Amino acid sequence: MHNFNSGPSILPQEVLTEAAEAIHNFNHTGLSILEIGHRTNWFGEVMTEARYLVKEFMQLGDDHEVLFLHGGATAQFMQAPMNLLDTDETAAYCDNGIWGSKAIKEARLFGNVNVVSSSKDKKHTYIPKDFFVPEDSKYLHYTTNNTVEGTQWHHIPATTVPLVADMSSDIFSRPMEFSKFALIYAGAQKNIGAAGVNLVVVKKEVLGKVKRPIPTIMDYGNHIEAGSLLNTPPVFAVYVSMLTMRWIKKEGGLEEMEKRSRQRAEFFYNALDTLPLFKPIVAIEDRSWMNAVFIIEKPELEKQFLEQCKENGMIGIKGHRSVGGLRVSMYNALPICSLEALVDLMKEFNNKFA
Ligand SMILES: *Cc1c(COP(=O)(O)O)cnc(C)c1O
Repeated sequence: MHNFNSGPSILPQEVLTEAAEAIHNFNHTGLSILEIGHRTNWFGEVMTEARYLVKEFMQLGDDHEVLFLHGGATAQFMQAPMNLLDTDETAAYCDNGIWGSKAIKEARLFGNVNVVSSSKDKKHTYIPKDFFVPEDSKYLHYTTNNTVEGTQWHHIPATTVPLVADMSSDIFSRPMEFSKFALIYAGAQKNIGAAGVNLVVVKKEVLGKVKRPIPTIMDYGNHIEAGSLLNTPPVFAVYVSMLTMRWIKKEGGLEEMEKRSRQRAEFFYNALDTLPLFKPIVAIEDRSWMNAVFIIEKPELEKQFLEQCKENGMIGIKGHRSVGGLRVSMYNALPICSLEALVDLMKEFNNKFA
């Protein structure tokens, strides 16, 4: 199979093999990873290594804490402003797609939202570069990679206010100045591991400042104090994330992931740019290296193309229901040979129908 799913998505084969083994016999304990206590040393070591690897990849010091929490990235749309934004304060948000819009909706429940930049005018097919963030904004929130629309920020927005970012779909695909961020969150199921857990990286100095009472489980501070073991974490999902991070490290870390991402993206967009039948719809400089969104010039052929993909073991190519068209997701674990197979099929289809 060639897996172009947008999420949950492809994982390295060796991670799957090891995770499968751990379901039967975790680390030679004779027990399944699914039946050991989260407060055992066994799981404690998994959690410690997972948190450590995140810090290593992101080159973070003691100012930042790493948590693995429940609820997916969607819960972070709510939990972030609950912890960071007071009722009478204003946070700046970039509206660059469906996920950013959802984050804005949740933030409005907790304080004022100033949408400082929006790409709505062009159906989110680009990333606006020139926009103004008032100095007194509590933070600036943006989505580093717009999974559905296929755009990606290739720079960190220049601002003096604390940065908050949803990195769900491009986390660990490239090195970044992660220490610049006050808060980073990412659902694991795109580029880190299995569904059911999200990664949260928070700068301690931004916490404990809002006046509202925060429910125990929602308070980042409580999770930090408990070493990300405040209640039962999604044990298996954390384990798979740890295995994937081990794999990333072994393969050469974020520098190597970036090299591969660039290689995949250049190869695939080059095909889209040269085959007349297929048309990328995103501004060239903002193209996502993770999710390529495109259309077929003759829309009536879309169904047939998707059927041919399926016949050839290529799955996950249909675009998100909100934008239609086609989307190819090229996450860390996708081998370039999958894209080569797809491009061969596209060439054939192009020659037949263009
Ligand atoms: C998938 C995705 C989400 C939603 O994640 P859930 O874990 O399903 O809540 C949020 N933001 C981005 C950028 C995503 O790609």
